[in-house]
Amino acid sequence: MSKVVKFGGSSLASAEQFQKVGDIIRSDAGRRYVVPSAPGKRFKGDSKVTDMLYACYDLADEGRDFGRELGEIKARYQEIIEGLKLELDISQEFRSIEENFKAKAGSNYAASRGEYLNGIIMAAYLGYEFIDAAEVIFFDEEGNFDSDKTDKVLSARLAECQRAVVPGFYGSLPDGTIKTFSRGGSDVTGSIVAKAARADVYENWTDVSGFLIADPRIIENPIGIDVITYRELRELSYMGAGVLHEDAIFPVRQENIPINIRNTNAPEDNGTWIVGSTCQKSKYIITGIAGKKGFCSVNIEKDMMNSEVGFGRKVLQAFEESGISFEHIPSGIDTLTVFVHQDEFVHKEQKVAASLYRLARPDAVEIEADLALIAVVGRGMKSTRGTAGRIFSALAHANVNVKMIDQGSSELNIIIGVANDDFETAIKAIYDIFVLTNL
Ligand code: ASP
Repeated sequence: MSKVVKFGGSSLASAEQFQKVGDIIRSDAGRRYVVPSAPGKRFKGDSKVTDMLYACYDLADEGRDFGRELGEIKARYQEIIEGLKLELDISQEFRSIEENFKAKAGSNYAASRGEYLNGIIMAAYLGYEFIDAAEVIFFDEEGNFDSDKTDKVLSARLAECQRAVVPGFYGSLPDGTIKTFSRGGSDVTGSIVAKAARADVYENWTDVSGFLIADPRIIENPIGIDVITYRELRELSYMGAGVLHEDAIFPVRQENIPINIRNTNAPEDNGTWIVGSTCQKSKYIITGIAGKKGFCSVNIEKDMMNSEVGFGRKVLQAFEESGISFEHIPSGIDTLTVFVHQDEFVHKEQKVAASLYRLARPDAVEIEADLALIAVVGRGMKSTRGTAGRIFSALAHANVNVKMIDQGSSELNIIIGVANDDFETAIKAIYDIFVLTNL
């Protein structure tokens, strides 16, 4: 059994947390490859080391003194080293970081030092080999992740060592410059390492026991999700269920390696399994509910739209010309509605409307703001009659006006548009009918 284990920032914020992580790793000989994040917050109001590094580098970049700020970062690591009673001297590392900051090595380099240093400490603590991610994780000239090169080099490197630590979040460009993934990107590194190691499991250790059916800020004590498929998670994650970086699914998905989300502070919990496909039914018909506020709908009307070849293309071209991506486009016989993110759209609405009139010659264009989209997702929906009916009668009972309905062609999800003000009420009503009442 071979496992790749990734630990998030809060799991590695202090020596005490490192010890929990050490116990977890040592309790299972299969946990061979470890991907650490940078130290996160130790308590509410504390700073994440990554944020401290960005702020410190900003000073360096402006040519200002950053000695105190770098000293505070060093102290965070020193506290961990001393707490773990390690014989490890990181002074030389900090001297070269200081020099590189002065030489303006870039904010990507700066941020990456958070995981780099934590990786060195983790390797010393566990007695594992340290592999610098810059030597095994690659981006191309355009800055896109180079999956083929990485997989080749990384799998060869891992084959040489039984146990290793690979810091998360960064890799290198063809000229050797450090580049990071987007924030939270150690999740992506973990997935890349799991793929290259052809691991049996990718364990992602964080500070919650997996995914919840709904947002706990809206639903009190929502039930956890035991098993979810990659596709279900995609539908939920793009709506903002933020436990795992959304790009982390892709590398392991190619190899059908399951991800197990676990809680460092409650290792006895099974957490959530994310799998390719499963015959395990979810406890309820729905696997999860997620949503986002802040959408606009652009409703375009034109008589005989349905018989005009190319109408849809012209409409979308108007959005494309202003660099706006769309979220959903439900359509009727003489109407087509485009859902867009309000914050992206608001400054460009008049330009888009003008392009629409120029390109598509509609009879009318109407814009409605302050809408929310809710995704109700579940692999069980396909084989169950009446799911949509139950959702809409629950919403009607809760006095929520439904503005848009879109059932994905996979029958895996139903997307509902409501007013921003109805967002929480709608989620509560859906949760009630499927989970609490479970009729
Ligand atoms: N340390 C980085 C961040 O704060 C990456 C990560 O933790 O995954 O975003």
